[in-house]
Amino acid sequence: MGSDCLFCRIVAGEIPATVVRETDTTLAFRDIDPKAPVHVLVIPKEHYADIATLAQGDPALAADVLATSAAVAEDEGLLGDGFRLMFNTGANGGQEVFHVHAHLLGGAPLGPMLARDLA
Ligand code: 5GP
Ligand code: ZN
Repeated sequence: MGSDCLFCRIVAGEIPATVVRETDTTLAFRDIDPKAPVHVLVIPKEHYADIATLAQGDPALAADVLATSAAVAEDEGLLGDGFRLMFNTGANGGQEVFHVHAHLLGGAPLGPMLARDLA
């Protein structure tokens, strides 16, 4: 991937981002268009298209993404009142950037899980 992928370019420092946490394997940065008072994206530095590919290809790296998400939740003061951690995946999931990312959302009540009941 690399130059064609927006989030690989953020990892490479080619596109600026407001980084809130970095580990050897992961990066967490603020979403450019926040949907909640706290909206952080947590990614593996290595390119995987989505959470299914990551979890099946490198479960330890998927665990790193979760651990970094929890650390950011703690840093942002979200552990008491709670938060939402979300992986939009594929067309039905509404995924727009095909480098896997966890959305960490919090800082206010987030309402129902989906805007509409689709069942
Ligand atoms: P998706 O729809 O793929 O789950 O989410 C992609 C997210 O990436 C969106 O919430 C969008 O606001 C965010 N995003 C898109 N481009 C950029 C960017 O250049 N920088 C940052 N920080 N976030 C971005
Ligand atoms: Zn990428």
